[in-house]
Amino acid sequence: MTSTSLWHPQTAMSTIEESLTVIASGRGASVRTEDGQDLLDLPAGLWHANVGHGRTRIADAVRRQMADLETYHLFQGMANRPAIRLAERLAALSPIPDAKVFLTSGGSDSVDTACKLARRHWQLAGRPGKRVIVSRQHAYHGLHGFGTSITGIQSNRDGYGGDSLIPETARVPWDDLAATEAELLRLGPDNVAAVIAEPVIGTGGVLLPPPGYLTGLAELCRRLDVLLIADEVITGFGRVGQWFACRRFGIEPDLLTMAKGITSGYLPLGGVLVSRRIWEPFFAETPDAPTFRHGLTYSGHAAACVAAEENLSILEEEGLLERVLDLEPVLAQALTPLRDHEAVVDVRAGTGLLAAVQLDPDADARPVLRAAREGGVLTRLLADNSLHVSPPFVITAEEISRAADVLKSALDRARTLES
Ligand code: PLP
Repeated sequence: MTSTSLWHPQTAMSTIEESLTVIASGRGASVRTEDGQDLLDLPAGLWHANVGHGRTRIADAVRRQMADLETYHLFQGMANRPAIRLAERLAALSPIPDAKVFLTSGGSDSVDTACKLARRHWQLAGRPGKRVIVSRQHAYHGLHGFGTSITGIQSNRDGYGGDSLIPETARVPWDDLAATEAELLRLGPDNVAAVIAEPVIGTGGVLLPPPGYLTGLAELCRRLDVLLIADEVITGFGRVGQWFACRRFGIEPDLLTMAKGITSGYLPLGGVLVSRRIWEPFFAETPDAPTFRHGLTYSGHAAACVAAEENLSILEEEGLLERVLDLEPVLAQALTPLRDHEAVVDVRAGTGLLAAVQLDPDADARPVLRAAREGGVLTRLLADNSLHVSPPFVITAEEISRAADVLKSALDRARTLES
């Protein structure tokens, strides 16, 4: 029996006492443990720390906001100024023209919001039968109701009622447009509300879209009159060198979910960008215009919105999106040689600062993580047993090269221990 009162998410609690690592502080691309070890933060926490750790500028802005007003809600016409300002800024960056912005407290909230909006859209359009949400194998869309139902990672779905948790969901192969079209036709386009897709699948193992896949998916959705939801919780805010991956891949979704990099994790915040086709009825200036009966106490939390504004300014002023594009080949070149290592099945890199070093799915990867940690590099495992690499954008080329060296010796050491 473990002695802790804290129940850790996604954690086998029986292992907590041997594996507990308490992070006490962070600067740039590194964090420091409570016992004083500096670690290069390859996963940027959980893909969130885009501008890096220790940004006192964000802390100062948040402190000033909180001293005036912690927050005020947005229900029934109430507002706070930072939420209004942030929405204007996000609409201007949006790959969806003329978008409205619905703010939430995080990624799972945003996914549930987008799925509800998709169903509501069709109900208002007089086609209430269009309810099925189609997602992809290996997909991760958070762990609220919709997220748990639509994930393509089976272990996250098991035990919650399966297909009855949120009825009317379906999964398709992550990379096969023909199979997706066949499934949409089998379900019947009159029954399908939306397809949801991460432009680059993250937690499922950094699966890069095959060339033409995303434009093909967008075209398929348009042709069958099915909405497309882009889940940009990971890929948004510069992770692939543009504000949103949809811009990089040249697609215009109907809904776009965001979180994580929106504040670089300085406070919890998420949101959904909504296209005109979906928001228009709700904004009609008629007494019988529908209301979106949905929202969260902290939709548009004032201090979180201030953190987001400051974070966006840092991304802009320091040219961090350009930096991601500059570092993209550096990261890919540093990691690609690991492909030749006997413990490595694949290395996926080459789109922004997103990469994975995949180990044999059945291998015990814990010795690799431990050895990397001893070498000063923090990583973790993704759903397919790959090492997670998505560093803060302020990482240097030298740090990337050091990280690759440490991962190589960690793989070597773990191999030696095994044999
Ligand atoms: N969508 C994607 C693509 C994610 O990667 C995540 C989290 O990793 C989520 C949604 C859920 O976000 P949150 O953990 O903030 O609820």
